[in-house]
Order: sequence, then C-alpha cells, then structure tokens
Amino acid sequence: MKLNTKNYDYLVVGAGPYGAVFAHEAAKLGKRILVIEKRPHVAGNLYTHVEHGITVHDYGAHIFHTDNQEIWHYIQQFADFNNFQNQVIANYKGELYNLPFNMNTFYEMWGTKTPAEAQAKIKEQRAAFLGDDENYQPRNLEEQAISLIGTDIYQKLIKGYTEKQWGRDATELPAFIIKRLPVRFIFDNNYFNHRYQGVPVGGYTQIFDQLLEHPLIDVQVNTDFMADKETYLAEFPRIIYTGMIDQFFDYQAGQLAYRSLRFEKEVHAVDNYQGNAVINYTDRETPYTRVMEWKHFDGLSDPAVSVVTREYPQAWTTDREAYYPINDQENTQLYRQYAKFAAALKDQVVFGGRLGQYRYYDMDQVFNAALQLVRQEFQLPSDYHFSEQADN
Ligand code: UDP
Repeated sequence: MKLNTKNYDYLVVGAGPYGAVFAHEAAKLGKRILVIEKRPHVAGNLYTHVEHGITVHDYGAHIFHTDNQEIWHYIQQFADFNNFQNQVIANYKGELYNLPFNMNTFYEMWGTKTPAEAQAKIKEQRAAFLGDDENYQPRNLEEQAISLIGTDIYQKLIKGYTEKQWGRDATELPAFIIKRLPVRFIFDNNYFNHRYQGVPVGGYTQIFDQLLEHPLIDVQVNTDFMADKETYLAEFPRIIYTGMIDQFFDYQAGQLAYRSLRFEKEVHAVDNYQGNAVINYTDRETPYTRVMEWKHFDGLSDPAVSVVTREYPQAWTTDREAYYPINDQENTQLYRQYAKFAAALKDQVVFGGRLGQYRYYDMDQVFNAALQLVRQEFQLPSDYHFSEQADN
C-alpha cells in the first residue's frame, strides 16, 4: 500500500492546534501537506458545534487567554473573539464561593474585609499546618495550596475537586498544578490573569476549517497513524506527530499516565439554567467537577432552551481520550526516556502538542510552539510576521 501518493513534503498526524497551524503555515510557504486525523473531525479537543443557536464545546470549555500579542492577532485572523471573561462559581455542598481565590472568596469564607485581614488568616492557617518557616518549599499540591490560601479554602474548594479531577490524593500531585489558579488580594473574579481573553463567536471549528482550507493541504479524517506506522515512516520524509509520544514508540519504556474525561450533555427547556458559564462542584461526593452552560459563553441564544454539559473525570485507558498528562516525578522521568527516543528520530519526526510533548499546555502555548516550529523549520527570521496586523 502506498500512502504518499502525491509526493507530499510533510505528514501531519493530528488536526489539533499544533498540527493545523503547522500545516497552514507550511502550505503558505509552498509545501504539500497531508494531515491525518484519527477522529471523524478536525480541531482536536477544540472541536465545537452549534445546536439551538448555541455553541457547544464538545471536549470541555476552552477559553482563549494569552499575554502574547502575536498569538492573539494570529488567532483573530480566523474568528471574531468576544470579550468573555471566565468568572467561575464554586459550589461546595450548597455553599457558593467566587473563584479564583480573591477578596470575594476570602470574604465569603471568613468575613474578612481587607487584604490585611485575609492575609493574616492565611498566615495563621499556613503556620498551623506547615510551620513558621516562610521559605518552606511545598513538596506537593496539598502543601502548595495550603501555603497559598490556608486550610479552610483547601478543604472546601481544592481537596475534593483535585482528588476527583486527578483520581489520586492531593499529596501525590505536583505543586505546579494549583499555581494555574490566581490568588489575589483584590476583589476580582477573573479566572485568568491574561491581558487578552475571549471565545470565538460561533466556535473554534471554523478556525480549523480555515487553517486547513488550502490547495496544498489534504485532510483525511478517521485515519489512524498507528495502524500504518511503518508505511508512513517509510514514505514520508518529514512527519509532525501530535499523538501520544509513548504510543508512537509502542510503549517500549512503559506507559505514561494520563487522565481522561467524560461529558454528559443535557438540553433544558429553560432560558437560564444555572446563571453562570461554569460552576465547579468542589466536594468529593458529587461525581462531576464542573457544569458548563454554553449560552453564557457568547450570549447568543434561544430563550426557549439551554444546553448544559457536566464534566466527569475518569481513568484513562487506551480506548479513551487522553486529556491531561500527569506530570509527577515518575512520569516526568519516563517522559525523558521517550524524549531521548524522539531526539534520535529528530531528522524525520517532530513531536508537538500536549500529547506529543507530554505537557500541560494551554491553547496559546500550543499556537506559539507551532509558530516557533515553523520559524525553525523554514529558517524564518525571529521577527517574521505570521499575521498582517502588526505586533509590537
Ligand atoms: N482546582 C481546584 N478547585 C477548583 C478548580 C481547580 O482545586 O474549583 C485545582 C485542580 O487541582 C485543577 C487545578 O486547580 O486540576 C487547575 O485548574 P484549571 O481550572 O486550570 O484546570 P483545567 O481547566 O486545565 O482542567
């Protein structure tokens, strides 16, 4: 069987952001690209569809946020972004709190009204748990959380959520995961600190349709690289691979750990189901972690219905989607072995994206990494402009 029938210059494995951005830019530079995608659609986990006039994110809420002006301009070539700000509510056994951890949360938890009062409370709780050493280096997520916001918030808003999200004890998780969430001593419920934030009106799929719409790009969905790996390797001079790195190497050094998710979608005959885009259920007993009400992401809606999705964490098995790498020490070491195997293949295969690099990447970081690869691959100057809008 011959797979490179059209003498393509590149095979891109996976039509998520890393692969699609690379394909788009390489095609603009005159390269012929075959993109293969295991799923029946492009866009990876950014895939969205519209129902009842409401944009639904099929693989969980994706809010674009970045400080990188180049990336913000880049993505806006392909969609209009609204100014959606994620302001998450936490529901702990019926008590509601603002997230991320800010003066509103502290007031709701303790009645503290000033930054000094909140800081004193946190200091007292941290000292009771971790001692007085201000320079103590937290060794895991539990210690990191308590060091940042004390034991009450840890117990009500972090411990249960984290343990169901990751399927393991918070003492067995790396500290960096909790640092994704801001801690602020101002009254500000914005989930992200980034300057540019929003979601594309009409969804993300249109972005991928445009990225991949080019006479030099062919896209084959429902096509599994692993099923014909040897033939692809024999026929394609250069491959951009965005699947799981351990699977590429047939799990030779062992399996990397991942966490999976499952989504349950509901259509309710109401205008407004929960009054917010995202509500987190932070107790251990509720089996889902968050509930998204999609119409609140872009304000476009049918008053008669609302589409809602519940997000359930689940164990990862080879027949499920791998959503999150688990970057603890053991898996980081194992990944290093795979990275060595990858380095030995570097003249033919580039590993990219969340699964190819086993990194808890955000969307903007993936877009940025893909553009960096394009710069390297085609030896473009570092100030090369990918979009017409000037970056400064
Ligand atoms: N987290 C938490 N309580 C919450 C929200 C988040 O304890 O209500 C913790 C949890 O460990 C989670 C991490 O913070 O895995 C990062 O949260 P984020 O919302 O960034 O996760 P993502 O959207 O990537 O799933």
